[in-house]
Order: sequence, then C-alpha cells, then structure tokens
Amino acid sequence: MDGVTRSIEAPVSQTLYDRAASVTPGGVNSPVRAFGAVGGTPRFMVSGTGPYLIDADGREYVDLVCSWGPMILGHSHPVVLEAVRAAVERGTSFGTPTPGEVELAEEIVARIAPVERVRLVSSGTEATMSAIRLARGFTGRAKVIKFAGCYHGHVDALLASAGSGVATFGLPDTPGVTGAQAGETLVLPYNDPAAVAEAFEAHPGEIACVITEAVPGNMGVVPPAPGFNAGLAELCRRHGALLISDEVMTGFRISRQGWFGVEGVEADLFTFGKVMGGGFPAAAFGGRADVMDKLAPSGPVYQAGTLSGNPVATAAGLAQLRLLDDAAYARLDATSARLRELAAEALTKEGVAHRVSAAGNMFSVFFTDAEVTDFATAKSQATYRYTAFFHAMLERGVYLPPSAFEAWFVSTAHDEAALERIAEALPAAARAAA
Ligand code: PLP
Repeated sequence: MDGVTRSIEAPVSQTLYDRAASVTPGGVNSPVRAFGAVGGTPRFMVSGTGPYLIDADGREYVDLVCSWGPMILGHSHPVVLEAVRAAVERGTSFGTPTPGEVELAEEIVARIAPVERVRLVSSGTEATMSAIRLARGFTGRAKVIKFAGCYHGHVDALLASAGSGVATFGLPDTPGVTGAQAGETLVLPYNDPAAVAEAFEAHPGEIACVITEAVPGNMGVVPPAPGFNAGLAELCRRHGALLISDEVMTGFRISRQGWFGVEGVEADLFTFGKVMGGGFPAAAFGGRADVMDKLAPSGPVYQAGTLSGNPVATAAGLAQLRLLDDAAYARLDATSARLRELAAEALTKEGVAHRVSAAGNMFSVFFTDAEVTDFATAKSQATYRYTAFFHAMLERGVYLPPSAFEAWFVSTAHDEAALERIAEALPAAARAAA
C-alpha cells in the first residue's frame, strides 16, 4: 500500500518465509497467516508465554490473535502443559476409545442442554462438514442455507461468500468446488429473517438445514440482531429443517456454555472447536439424540477419524475447560471492555471513523461510520486504514489479526502490563490510520 509505513524489518522471519514459499503454497499453511491483506513479512513465532509471543527475530508481541481463539488462558498455561505432559507420557494415540474422550464428551453434554450426544473430531471444518452430512441424512433433503460472511471452515458446499479468508483475498468463490456442490447452498444476507422465510417458501421440502455462526466472527464480529437466532430455530421447526449453530469460535469462549449460555436458542445441532482443544486439534459436533443416533455405528450416516478423540488433545481441552470458571469469564469480559474503550478513545481522538462491534469478550474494530449488521456493511469499511493501524501496532509490539475482517481475541493472561503496552501503542496507530 502506497504511503503506509510498513513494519520494521524482520530478517529471520523473512528468510523463513522465503524458504517456506519454495516448499509450501504461499509460504503458509492457512491463507490469512500470509499477511496478504496488510502486506509485509508474516512473523514466524517461536514461543509463547501468557499474553506474549516471541518471533524468530527475538521480538516480543502482546498477542491479540490467541491462535484465532483457542488460547483463552494465554500461551503455555502451566496446568494445561502439565496435563499434556502427563498424557504424552501415557502414549500419543491408540485408535481405541479412551477415558479422556468420555470425560470431554460428558463435560460438553453437561453444559449445553440441547446437546444430548456429541462426537469428537479434529477440526472445526470436520465438525461442520459432518453436521451438514448428518442433517442431510436425517431429513433426506439436500439444500443448505448459509449466510454471506459466515465461515464454517473449508467445507466444499460452504465456500460461498465465506467471510474473512475470502474477503481478505478478494476471491469471489473458489475453483475446485463443483457447481453441483455450490448449487445446493443458498447464500442469504445475515440478520435478514425475511430472506430466510422466503427461501423456505421458494424451496418447500428441500432445505435440510440452516447453518449459522452463533455470533459471526469471520466478517469481523457482527452480533445477531435480537431474536434473529431464535427466529431461525422457529423457521427450521416449522419447515422440518434442522438448525446448526456453529459455535466453533464462540463455544466455551463467550461463557461456560458459549453463546448458548447467552441466548439459549435450542439449535438441533451445534459445532465446537478452538477453545475445547486447549491449543490442540480437537473439535466436536453434537445435538439432539434422535439426530445424532443416525451416525455410524448406531445409524447409517457415516463419519469417522483416525485421530478423533486423540488422548493428548482431549487432555489439553479438558484441562483448559476446567480452568474456565465464572471468574475467568468475568476477567475476559473486563479485559475486552477495557481494550474496546482504549481503541475507541485513541481513534476518536484522531477523528478516525470507526465502529467497535462486540459480542461477549469477542470484538472487532471496523473502520467505518456505518452500523455493521451484515457482510455488505462489513465490507464497506476502509481497509487501508486497518492496514496502517495494523503495522503501527505491530511495530510497537502488538500482534493484531492480519486482516480487517477478523475478531480480536483476549485471554485471561492479558494483565495490566499487557494492556499498558497496548495503550501505549494505540495513539500512534490511530494517527497512522487517520
Ligand atoms: N466455524 C467457525 C465459526 C470458524 O471460525 C472456523 C475457523 O475459524 C471453523 C468453523 C473451521 O474450523 P477449523 O479451522 O478448525 O477447521
């Protein structure tokens, strides 16, 4: 971007990036890590402690990405590390049922009343893909409703108007997804219940499910309008379709019960990931017993995984979930509120148009005057301002998401010292964005 001061040099990261680019497409294993939207050298991180990350050049950052959500207790939490060490000592994978996976499933079922059965998988993508297959198998219908700007992983049928990753790179949709797969997906504007009602009227008996992020975080944080999620549940019930509430991002982050703990909307199926794995690949989908029991081996809908319920991942996840008590959530909420206040104060002082949009402790800063209620309004923001803001923060040791369309994440480890460092960086970043 012309006129924007790029971050200071990161020679070791740059060398690693060059090496990576010759063996890995784009030099990264997940697109948004490449700094494609903001430019500059992606930082290769070598360690993390509490709210801090250290890059390969030895520079320290306050981390507001938290591995895109999972590191809710901060990095290298001693209790989680101890649980992982103990699990590793017992062996890393058995390909059999294990006691830990029963405990993790019980923990989830005990917290979220509509989740009567749960199946563990290894990624959020697997969870949503499997939930959709199950919804189709249960209803005998093919079509899926999703919302523009919501991301549910890289499931073929859902890579239409898929939020951050796609918004970041300006890709319309992706090659490699067939017309037949995309054709079964109806993409509707978010927060528009009339559009959903019309879709049900237009396709009677054809819609298997509606999948929605419990709170969208993948176009930036865009809270559901009051009653929107409940309205979806009602429409699904009336038309014999299932509601899938994707809590991969919100699950166990917003509260002990995730977003369900806030709104209490009884979806038929839920998907989880991120926080429940404690930094390891663990995810899940679950819901009504009569629906879940259609899964193999109790039913005909096939779903499986070599590493599903991996004992190290379940040990990390269990340790993390058990540490997240009411006091932890109160702390996350207070830290998030303070950060939102600091960011808004700095941007207001410099006269930079912005909207701070929050749901629980998740939030985003949109560089726009407009109220952000859907993907179209999210995309109306001045992303070049975010680019300048991002690099100014990075230079001052604060690691923000390298895209204007992402949630900012805090952890219980973000203490006064970390907040102070962010507060010191913000005025210059706000000036850069002006
Ligand atoms: N669903 C939501 C709401 C997500 O935010 C994500 C990832 O960011 C996914 C699903 C996919 O999860 P994973 O990246 O673990 O496949």
